[in-house]
Amino acid sequence: MKIVNQVKFTFPSRSVNEGFARAALAAFLAQADPTVPQLADIKMAVSEAVTNCIVHAYPQQVGPVTLTAAVCEQNLVRITVSDRGVGIADVAQAMEPLYTTGDPEERAGLGFAVMQNFMDKVKVSSKPGRGTRVTMTKRLESKG
Ligand code: ATP
Ligand code: MG
Repeated sequence: MKIVNQVKFTFPSRSVNEGFARAALAAFLAQADPTVPQLADIKMAVSEAVTNCIVHAYPQQVGPVTLTAAVCEQNLVRITVSDRGVGIADVAQAMEPLYTTGDPEERAGLGFAVMQNFMDKVKVSSKPGRGTRVTMTKRLESKG
């Protein structure tokens, strides 16, 4: 799908930046005129992806997280969240609902399930030791 407009930014994996990423994304997506629920869905999915970079990708240090958002023809929104962290050995297993390698007191293992629920398509590619890239798309149906 042809890109109409695109933005890309990189920030350190500090939790304070999660709110920034969400707000910056919302400001950029205003041009696509999303409905309030559509925007809420996208922000929710992106929060999960960014939180995963903060919590899992760089467990012992701070590293770069890159967010790319594109508005494509036919009001298709495509968002990529990538890191250069530890990576995921078994992506299919990681995406199973309730699977977590985190502290079970804090993590539910539902981040990927949330992304899949709130977006049309979620693709994850990862290499252990190299990092992870999550690409999510959502078509903003017209308000009718
Ligand atoms: P929750 O999101 O509910 O707090 P969670 O983060 O463990 O819990 P998911 O977001 O579904 O659940 O992620 C599942 C697992 O995939 C994680 O526990 C982690 O092992 C792995 N994972 C996810 N994102 C990354 C990433 N960016 N880098 C490395 N591992 C990741
Ligand atoms: Mg998560």
